[in-house]
Amino acid sequence: MQPPSDWSSRHSVAATARRTSALVNVLSEEDPEPGAVADVLRAHGEDDPLDLSARDVQEMRAVAVLLREVFAAEDVDQAATTLNDLLQRSTGRLRLTSHAGRTPWHPHLDGHDDAPWAEWFLASSCLALTVLVWDGQRPPGGVCASPTCGNVFLTQGSGPPRRYCSRRCATRERVSAHRRARRTR
Ligand SMILES: [Zn+2]
Repeated sequence: MQPPSDWSSRHSVAATARRTSALVNVLSEEDPEPGAVADVLRAHGEDDPLDLSARDVQEMRAVAVLLREVFAAEDVDQAATTLNDLLQRSTGRLRLTSHAGRTPWHPHLDGHDDAPWAEWFLASSCLALTVLVWDGQRPPGGVCASPTCGNVFLTQGSGPPRRYCSRRCATRERVSAHRRARRTR
């Protein structure tokens, strides 16, 4: 059997970081359904059956709050300090796994391959964000500056830091700033 075409990219640092930001965002919603969280996991390469309970989602929500602090860091030093704190308190030792040959070898910081979802989410996210800090020497991401959004996003490319999670948020805020300016004139 041929390995799938995304065999090596699916467990890359970039893919893991994208999954982290997508999970933080879906888990920050008011009352996320396990089905909605499972959809995000599937979209980022997790295989069925996912077996995600309401309790798993509650535990993952607590993790999302912790990870959000990394995205909210003002600068790279603060991001590193926040990550160090999480690594010290909440993750296991670095190990490699291939999930019994079903994936390429990749590093894990959770206790074992069958760790609970929340433990896996925190450990895999800390690992990816740590590598991004190491590689980029800048905050690994940010929180959308739109007061009605609050989504987290990843730092991309070089150039000035982004303020908004998406073009949609940037446009909406530009329009409302324009309206405010016109009203005060
Ligand atoms: Zn936004």
